[in-house]
Amino acid sequence: MDIPSVKNSRLTGFAVRPNLADPGTKGGDVRGPSWPWASLIHEMPGPSPHPESPEKSPGLYIHAPFCVTKCPYCAFASTVDREGMASWVLGIRREARQRIDGSAPPFGSLYLGGGTPSAVPLAPLTDALSWIEDGPGLVPGAECTIEVNPGDVDPASSNAWRALGFNRVSVGVQAMDDATLAFLGRRHDVVTARAAVQTLRQAGFLNLGIDLIYGLPGQDARAWERALQAALALAPDHVSCYGLTLEPGTRFADAVARGDMPAPDDERVADLFLLADHVLTDAGYEHYEVSNYALPGRRARHNASYWDGTPYIGLGPAAHSFRDDVREWNAGNLATWLDELAAPERAPARRERLDARQRGLEILALGLRTRDGIAAARVAPGPAGDGTLSRLIDEGLLLSRKSRLVPTPRGMLVADAMARVLAG
Ligand code: SF4
Repeated sequence: MDIPSVKNSRLTGFAVRPNLADPGTKGGDVRGPSWPWASLIHEMPGPSPHPESPEKSPGLYIHAPFCVTKCPYCAFASTVDREGMASWVLGIRREARQRIDGSAPPFGSLYLGGGTPSAVPLAPLTDALSWIEDGPGLVPGAECTIEVNPGDVDPASSNAWRALGFNRVSVGVQAMDDATLAFLGRRHDVVTARAAVQTLRQAGFLNLGIDLIYGLPGQDARAWERALQAALALAPDHVSCYGLTLEPGTRFADAVARGDMPAPDDERVADLFLLADHVLTDAGYEHYEVSNYALPGRRARHNASYWDGTPYIGLGPAAHSFRDDVREWNAGNLATWLDELAAPERAPARRERLDARQRGLEILALGLRTRDGIAAARVAPGPAGDGTLSRLIDEGLLLSRKSRLVPTPRGMLVADAMARVLAG
C-alpha cells in the first residue's frame, strides 16, 4: 500500500472539533465508528496488544449538548433546545450510577465538553457534577477542563467555574477577525474573545487553551499567519488548530453541494497545517499531537488519555467510554440517550471489544498522531518493517529516535496511512 504524498492526499486526522470534543470527541474528538482510524482496526495484523504507557487514573468526560445557536460547520451532538436541560442533569447522574461503581478509583482528569458547557446555568451545572465529590472523587491535582464560548464569559461565571473546581479552560476563539467569526456563525467578536481570555485569567485560570479553525474558503497563508500571531498575543498555554472539513448535514455541506461555497482544498489545508507548525513551534509551543500545541508542561492531560491507552468514562449524549479493551459510545440525540439509559442493556451496536490485533493497530495509529510516536519494536519485521520503514524515514515522514519512531509534522498529516502500512 502506498503512503499518499502530503500534497494530493485526503488528509487524515482532520476534523473541525469546534470548541468540542478531537479526540477529540468530543471529549477530545472521540467518535467510535468515525474515528479516523476506526476503518483500520478491523484489519490489524499488528504484533502486540499492550498499551504503551502504564495505566493512569481513568479520565472522565461529560458532554453538555446545549448550544445557543448551531454553527454552520458543526455536526457535533448539540441542540439549541434548552428544554431538556433538567433531563440531561438527571441522565448524567443516572449514567454515572450505571457506569461507575462504589469501588471505582478517583478520576485523574475531568473534561466538560459540548455543545457549549458555558451556556449551562450554574445550578444545573452543579447538579450534573456534584456526584463526583460524593463518589470516586478526583486525584489530587487532577486536570479539570471546561469548554467555554467567549460570549458566555464574565467575572461572575468565571469565578463560579473556578469555584466548581475547574482549573483549566478551553476557549472557543476559532478565529481572530470579525468577518471570519461571522462566516463561522459564531456569536462573539474578537474584542469579546480578548476580553474573555483576560477575565478568565483574572479569575485564576492559570491553564488556558484556545481553539482555532483554518482552511476556510479564501484563507491564504498570510491571513492564517495573521490569525496565529493575533492568537499568540492572547498568551494561551495551549492551542488547538482544526482544519475545516465538511460534515454531512451541516449548512456548509449543503452550501458546497449547491455550489455556493468552495469545498475545502486539501493541498491548501496541508500548507496551512505546516504553517501553523512553523509559527507555533517558533513561538515555543510543542506540536505534540496532530491538532494540538502546548507550552512546556501544558499538554492537555485529559486528551492524552485518548491517545495513550488510559481508560476513560464518558457520560452524556455522544460520549465515549473505553475500559478493558471495550469501547462504548452513546447515542448522540438527547432523547435517544435518555431512552437508552432507561433500558436494562445498552444497544450492542454501541459497544465493541477490541481484540489484540485491533488494539495493536489502534496503538500504532494513535501513537503516530503524537510527538511521542511509537516504540520501534512495534513495527513487525517483514515487508513493513524493512523497506517501508526506511522509505518513510527517507521521505521525511518519520524520525528514528533512540528506540522510537516519531512522526515529523509532514508525517502527522498522513499518520493513519503510515499506521496502515507499518502494520504490514
Ligand atoms: S458552539 Fe457551534 S461548533 Fe460548538 S458545539 Fe455548538 S454548534 Fe457546534
